[in-house]
Amino acid sequence: MRIANIAGRLVLVTGGGAVDVATASNGQFAADAQQIFDRWDEFRDWAETNPQPDAAPDPAAHVDPPVPRPRQVFGIGLNYRAHAAESNLAEPAFPATFTKFPTSLTGAFDDIELPSATVDWEVELVVVIGRRAFKVKEREGWAYVAGLTVGQDISERTVQLRPPVPQFSLGKSFPGFSPIGPQLVTPDELSDPDDLEIGCSLDGEQVQKSRTSQLIFPVPTLIEKLSSICPLLPGDLIFSGTPSGVGGARTPARYLHPGQLLESTITGIGTMRHHLVQTDDSAA
Ligand code: ZN
Repeated sequence: MRIANIAGRLVLVTGGGAVDVATASNGQFAADAQQIFDRWDEFRDWAETNPQPDAAPDPAAHVDPPVPRPRQVFGIGLNYRAHAAESNLAEPAFPATFTKFPTSLTGAFDDIELPSATVDWEVELVVVIGRRAFKVKEREGWAYVAGLTVGQDISERTVQLRPPVPQFSLGKSFPGFSPIGPQLVTPDELSDPDDLEIGCSLDGEQVQKSRTSQLIFPVPTLIEKLSSICPLLPGDLIFSGTPSGVGGARTPARYLHPGQLLESTITGIGTMRHHLVQTDDSAA
């Protein structure tokens, strides 16, 4: 199953088009995409009845985040060996965890404002929780996943790394710094949800490319480790970490510039496209 949030309405994406869920279900399910995760099993059963598209999708409609208002957003640092190595840091023994505040969410095709000259890219697989998870074992981890989507953990490196202690959560939470989308895809749609090709490009130049099989802590392990401390709630997001190839780890360092196009892809899920623009009030 594939779902999207189009102009603020939950839709089921089918081969024939898009089904408006509130309309096709006669109001059984709300148009608000956030509410579906509290009734995920019931929704999946309804989707299997193959509701038919009622109208052609509007190609100009705005694509909103498939999860618009998560209660908790977890970010994981250093979760690919090659990225830990390029960062000159040891592989973590427990997932290095921070939060991305929900006000930083944006859609898959929105412009992203750059507040400084040291903003970096980080393409990531984003996990969406489908049922409350607390003290879940790794072998059961996938059962708590509603679906997967593409994300960018956009990072302002100066704030993130400012002494005396790094401020990952703030440096990664400027408005627009957490784009997700364009769709949420259930794991059963993917031939191997533990091995997906992931990458991103800047103006057509590939800058990151890897596979999610390279994760130090794969999706079910993240659910075990995080849920050993925090209950994970329906609709929560986990940004699972970025592969190597970020700009700040290069010599010389490279950062995002206004006017560039950042394209982020996970094969089998989709592609996000973001034009980077100057913040009106940013210093030159
Ligand atoms: Zn990241």
